[in-house]
Amino acid sequence: MDSDEGATARRTERRRRLLRYAAIGATLVLILVRGGFRSLDVAAYPLPVQRPTTWEEILARPRPVTVEVLLTGTSDGDRRVVLDESDPNIKELGDHHAPSTVLAYWVHHPTEGDYLIDAGLARAFAREGGNYTGLLRLILALIGAESRSTDGADVASQLRSRGISPRAVFLTHLHGDHTSGLVDLPAPVPAVFGRGEDTFMQKAMIGDHLDGRPLYALDFGEAPALPPFEHVLDLLGDGSIWAISTRGHSPNHVSYLVNAQSGPVLITGDACAYHAQFEHRIRPTPGVDDQEAAIRSLAGLRELYDRFPQTQVMVGHEPPRRR
Ligand SMILES: [Zn+2]
Repeated sequence: MDSDEGATARRTERRRRLLRYAAIGATLVLILVRGGFRSLDVAAYPLPVQRPTTWEEILARPRPVTVEVLLTGTSDGDRRVVLDESDPNIKELGDHHAPSTVLAYWVHHPTEGDYLIDAGLARAFAREGGNYTGLLRLILALIGAESRSTDGADVASQLRSRGISPRAVFLTHLHGDHTSGLVDLPAPVPAVFGRGEDTFMQKAMIGDHLDGRPLYALDFGEAPALPPFEHVLDLLGDGSIWAISTRGHSPNHVSYLVNAQSGPVLITGDACAYHAQFEHRIRPTPGVDDQEAAIRSLAGLRELYDRFPQTQVMVGHEPPRRR
């Protein structure tokens, strides 16, 4: 073999190796994002007639609903990953390595029945390492976050021990730590989320969490404004549970206000992760879906609280503070 032939053979071999790596890479990417190709059958959530007045009037007529927080597990990792580290108030955060709680909320309505807001961590986190997709596990490993649970902490077990079958699960958003526990609930229980929240990437991240159950989308497009919010929905039509469009953390994130007799309960979801973030208005990380929108959403939630300080604020990843 002369040197020309040798060089050609080496080039061919290099090209073959490159092609092999590219094929392996493409396969890995496809495996990681395959959930994104799932097509979801999502119907419009049937809304009652909307007659919003003002928050003053709404909160002056509380309904006989109650809210109970369900702790489904914890997530380790640096709390600052969800915050904007260039915000000078980040120093108010305190112990940024304290584990974050993964929560769900049980809302009881005396005539309309029981509802869940978010689904927390699945039973699989107590023993088998959980039910996150490879893509989500990879991302969480890169930021050093790990989720854990214990036997009986999943929402299905907690509801069963109370003899409750939920009529629906209202989700704040489609991130794995809020959807994971759906898989343990009976298949006929519908899941409800903001319209447009089920983007390719969101579906790729959560994989099969929504599979096999009726899905409904909350359409905020025509939803009335109730300052400081541009779009709110009265979910049951009696002023008891309100969905508030708080975009930013995710494409169509939703916060909820429960107009309870014991006082309004504001369930922020990840529009605000921690109490210190709420108090000191720490900006969400530029890594969220839309930081500008997320900043406006947090400001709206703060404004509502400032107008109605009797509101109990339940932030996304910390237990509620005692009043
Ligand atoms: Zn979360």
